[in-house]
Amino acid sequence: MMKKVVIQKGKEKSLQRFHPWVFSGAIARKDSHIAEGEIVEVYDAYDNFLAMGHYHTSSISVRVFSFEQVNPDYAFWKKKIEQAIDYRKLIYLFDNENTTLFRLVNGEGDGMPGLIADWYNGHLVLQFHSYGMYLMREMLTDIFRELLSDRLKSIYNKSATTLSETNAFVPANELLYGQLENEILVHENGVPFYVDIPQGQKTGFFIDQRDNRKMVGDFCRGKKVLNLFCYTGGFSAYALQGGAELVHSVDISKRAIEQTEANMALLGPLAKNHEAFAANVFDFIEDMPAHFYDVIIVDPPAFAKHHKVKEQGIKGYRNINRKAMEKLKSGGIIFTFSCSQAVSKEDFQTIVFSAAAMEHKNIRIVKHLQHALDHPVSIFHPEGSYLKGMALCVE
Ligand code: SAH
Repeated sequence: MMKKVVIQKGKEKSLQRFHPWVFSGAIARKDSHIAEGEIVEVYDAYDNFLAMGHYHTSSISVRVFSFEQVNPDYAFWKKKIEQAIDYRKLIYLFDNENTTLFRLVNGEGDGMPGLIADWYNGHLVLQFHSYGMYLMREMLTDIFRELLSDRLKSIYNKSATTLSETNAFVPANELLYGQLENEILVHENGVPFYVDIPQGQKTGFFIDQRDNRKMVGDFCRGKKVLNLFCYTGGFSAYALQGGAELVHSVDISKRAIEQTEANMALLGPLAKNHEAFAANVFDFIEDMPAHFYDVIIVDPPAFAKHHKVKEQGIKGYRNINRKAMEKLKSGGIIFTFSCSQAVSKEDFQTIVFSAAAMEHKNIRIVKHLQHALDHPVSIFHPEGSYLKGMALCVE
């Protein structure tokens, strides 16, 4: 018998609308001795079945993976992963030689809360955001091996940081299958990059920016471009390929700057138009000349990781955007982003609005930006839209 969690009267609405999280405050009672990560059934006050998911002692108590009573066995998960693969086929990312890295499973967006799976040219990185999902790693490994067959070179579990945030338990990163290479060469829209899976940030690359990088590349012909918070130079490479006259990349991490340089070297003679700086962006932007750059990319880390620090995060976004607006050449373009879940699309627009007002700049929104197509968001889980961005034409 599966253990039961019963929701307070009136608190069942969000589950009836297929929102996949049960907050601890909504629970009326539960069976005793539910283990961390155990699969539970969720019922309303009148004993009607609502959902099934992984239980955790945290503010999100149940992460729902089914709104039907199912047997969550190998076949059940295999079907979910097949659906995730089918979707990547639909958007022409699966077996696409031009783009050999993509997100294969996007958590709630693919009906698998707590699981991220990123594909790097044959190497699959699993990132668990819930202990319940982590407990299923061996079965998931078998399923991926069956479905990806000969294409698959390795499966690596990289959850040491993601699970430590939500659970007392910290797993070591580990190889689950095959052989991992140190620097994996991938292509994104034909642009080459090296990815260091174990040492790199996140699963190795910020895959979510693929479509935005392409757009940036299209705006750079003959331009002077500044890529702030460049990590391994994703936007910089597109800018160079797009014909930029000069590209400057800035990141505080020395390792990221080394990788940026290695990645630009992959572009051959174009690399001579590039220079990378290991520096704090806030100092760099203060010291740099005004009205020099035509295009500035602002893609900082999450300044507001959770709601408690939202106000502080908002200030950070506003300050950096004000500086970019002040220093940009007149008529130039800023591509600005926030990846903080706590900052909504509306919040972000308000931040840019106040920065523009404070700087007395007339600004036109060229386009609203979000994560790439392989990061689908469930219509019932709007929180999944964490990446917000805008292309701005600044007077
Ligand atoms: N635009 C990148 C992803 C950026 S992630 C891409 O397309 O791949 C955010 C980056 O900001 C990280 O590489 C981190 O090292 C860097 N960073 C964080 N704080 C910084 C600071 N104060 N100054 C410069 N870089 C910073």
